[in-house]
Amino acid sequence: MTTDNDVLARLRERQSADLPVHGGRTLAYVYDSGLAEVDRVGREAVAAYAGSNGLDPTAFPSLLAMENELVGFGLRLLDAPDGAVGTVTSGGTESVLLAVQTARDSRPDVARPRMVLPTTVHAAFHKAAHYFGVEPVFVPVGPDHRADVVATAAAIDDSTVLVVASAPSYAHGVVDPVTEIAALAAQRGIRCHVDACIGGWVLPYAVRLGRDVPAWTFAVDGVTSISVDLHKYGYAPKGTSLLLHRTAELRRPQFFASALWPGYTMLNATMQSTKSGGPLAGAWAVVQTLGDDGYLRMAQEVFGAVDEIVAGLPSVPALSLVARPDSTLVALATDATCDPFTICDEMAARDWYVQPQMSFAGEPATIHLSVSAATRAHVPEFLDALRASVAAAVAAGPVVVDPGVVDFIKALDPAALTDADFDGLLAASGLVGEGDGEGGLALPERMAGVNALLDLASPAMREALLIAFLDRLSRPV
Ligand SMILES: *Cc1c(COP(=O)(O)O)cnc(C)c1O
Repeated sequence: MTTDNDVLARLRERQSADLPVHGGRTLAYVYDSGLAEVDRVGREAVAAYAGSNGLDPTAFPSLLAMENELVGFGLRLLDAPDGAVGTVTSGGTESVLLAVQTARDSRPDVARPRMVLPTTVHAAFHKAAHYFGVEPVFVPVGPDHRADVVATAAAIDDSTVLVVASAPSYAHGVVDPVTEIAALAAQRGIRCHVDACIGGWVLPYAVRLGRDVPAWTFAVDGVTSISVDLHKYGYAPKGTSLLLHRTAELRRPQFFASALWPGYTMLNATMQSTKSGGPLAGAWAVVQTLGDDGYLRMAQEVFGAVDEIVAGLPSVPALSLVARPDSTLVALATDATCDPFTICDEMAARDWYVQPQMSFAGEPATIHLSVSAATRAHVPEFLDALRASVAAAVAAGPVVVDPGVVDFIKALDPAALTDADFDGLLAASGLVGEGDGEGGLALPERMAGVNALLDLASPAMREALLIAFLDRLSRPV
């Protein structure tokens, strides 16, 4: 047997190759409170409950108690009326999947269920449509990137089982007109889900700080369910989100039981059955530690950072805000002197992770920032890095993709390609290099060339190429 210390030392060494989860310089994927105590408490709670099983709340009553307390905190935060209920899930995607499944199963009378979604809705809804056979009806957003109320009204029909709005949308960081959309749904007796996965734990504090946020919580008539992630602005360890319903009746189709086998009667509120108690305990511990006051302070920090970034942008040539942020997400567009992908690479070279977003539906590619409380202390450095990165990107000029390669890719039907075709395409795109000689794939240091190529491909081709890429990455060693 290898001694513990060896294995843990090897783990730490491997982890050093990953994006840092602390320090406030990773502006997507991770959310950093900047408080060592909060991290420690969350980590120790996860470890203490790593072996506990959320499968059976009667066998692990402490997990049930923590879940009910977390849901209670979430419901109070989001203005829920008496009688509202909720469930802790493994993440935003699971909350979204269950909201769609529950809406579908609440309407067995509808043969071909549909849901009406703004085009800016999170891809988790595309996944839900794919998994559960609910037809997505996409409604283009207005020039302000918010859901279009008139077009939404026109898209609702007798087969609509769900209407969705975001608070805020991930890509542009703006809150949809939830009051109007929920009213449309309510008039027709249709469920309205607000996807507040990323904004739900921070926007209520923004309101308390006197910021202007369009109404979107259960205080809005017609909102029937809300998803809100604890592992984003709850600053909890990864693996928890809440799915909240206005009434217990609305939640009922979410539950699944099966006594049709010789083992224990399966009884689940979520998609998982056996599930670690770790994430739930971690989230509970972080929420207990920060509390309402702590979250208000975190909100002050994160909105301070957002305001300082927005105020600093005029000093960065070539960049502009896509929309004034309603929350903690900032989307940046470039002018024609440079491209967002090169800026992302230049930022990475300066130890900042900012996330490229591809062009979509006539909108150009952009740079996404999910700002954390921990970023506040580093905003001047961030702006310095951004100025330097833009200067480097302007000096390099926009990435030029070989027009022959573009024409070639545009002419291909991704559905008709073979595995061998994908091998050739992945090599030509630069996504897959020669490998490291040990069967592994070499990822390019700089991603701008690859991203620029993907950006010119159709969404269907991007999906197909990236799936082929993931397939090649995921091979046993
Ligand atoms: C992050 C996010 C999701 C999906 O959540 P995961 O935790 O990544 O599964 C859904 N909707 C929005 C708006 C999000 O930001």
